[in-house]
Amino acid sequence: MNCRHCNQVLEYKFLDLGFMPPSNAYLSSEELNKPELTFPLRLFVCCNCWLVQTDDYTSAEDLFTDKYAYFSSVSKQWLIHAEKYVESITREIGLTKNSFVVEVASNDGYLLKNFVAKKIPCLGIEPTASTADKAEEQEIPVCREFFGKELALQLKKEGKSADLIIGNNVFAHVPDINDFSEGMKILLKESGTITLEFPHLMELLKNKQFDTVYHEHFSYLLLFTVNKIFKNAGLKIWNVDILETHGGSLRVYGCHLDCQREVSPVVNKIILEEEQLGLHDLDTYNSFQEHVNNIKNDFLDFLIEQKKNGKRISAYGAAAKGNTLLNYAGVKSDLITCVYDAAPAKQGNYLPGSHIPILHPDEIDNDQPDFLIILPWNISSEIIQQLQSVNDWGCKFVTAIPDIKVI
Ligand SMILES: [Zn+2]
Repeated sequence: MNCRHCNQVLEYKFLDLGFMPPSNAYLSSEELNKPELTFPLRLFVCCNCWLVQTDDYTSAEDLFTDKYAYFSSVSKQWLIHAEKYVESITREIGLTKNSFVVEVASNDGYLLKNFVAKKIPCLGIEPTASTADKAEEQEIPVCREFFGKELALQLKKEGKSADLIIGNNVFAHVPDINDFSEGMKILLKESGTITLEFPHLMELLKNKQFDTVYHEHFSYLLLFTVNKIFKNAGLKIWNVDILETHGGSLRVYGCHLDCQREVSPVVNKIILEEEQLGLHDLDTYNSFQEHVNNIKNDFLDFLIEQKKNGKRISAYGAAAKGNTLLNYAGVKSDLITCVYDAAPAKQGNYLPGSHIPILHPDEIDNDQPDFLIILPWNISSEIIQQLQSVNDWGCKFVTAIPDIKVI
């Protein structure tokens, strides 16, 4: 296998999580009786461009199907994040009713609805029918395709050219990151701006966030690498924001390579910090598997000990990252009885691999578990705030990454 960016042979595998079903492949009760497709989940690092990447076993079409159950609007915190972003970018780059905004992976319209409210013309690009339907209900125009060079050329032919291209948590999810970047270059107006948000690999390694590794997440990115990928596509990064979302993300601001915009010193500062933390050094990557195994073992120890004490354990949040943790640890419904989730599309279904049933959060009061494992730890404060009623019977919250914490 070769690096998806620079084509160098990939020799360094540093994380092996065994075989797993795709994280978002939730199962109906009928599907529980059928064989389940699993793929190897491993991470490689390219020692030329330091792009961390998964194997090439699955195609995007297999992963982002019509049943895709991730609806961005379910998290209130994320909705606020999107609204604030729209306010600040509109001001910063002076968007008006004559501008044109494109969001790639526009999901259920969680972000673009803010531009619709401002009467700024926009277009969402979203191949998943279930989420695209939701966006169209809110008057957001949606193009139901995967984004890349081909689609960008087609849009350009139709006379479309973007003042702003937004990609939130999509850059790391595309199999062909070069083609995606070249597509942005084609669709971007001469004076246009790109903003992309993605989880920062530096935080993943520092905080042992191995559960953010899943098949749909093809790339794990350093600013150093994204800077290279942009340059290669004829683009440049001129600014970066450090965000707390998804356990630590970056928002990069891009433009055409020959654009006169000055590059903020923060860009080189972060690239230097990555290097100083050893992220251009194979030893840093080689020690990761051992940390991951320790987390898994501690998690299992906790579950087994509580089970022996007769405690009832459930989980909250049927998020993709929860599936990586549960499936790597081999946890089934004998240890964690069920998982509660606010997304109607997931309720009544089962988690892939572990086959743990997904229930409506209203069931918590009936079940009265002793422990609630919060699987999407990145929004744990939002969840704890919402679920104050569990204190009535002394239920404790638990997060497992980077180590077991009982709250
Ligand atoms: Zn490479």
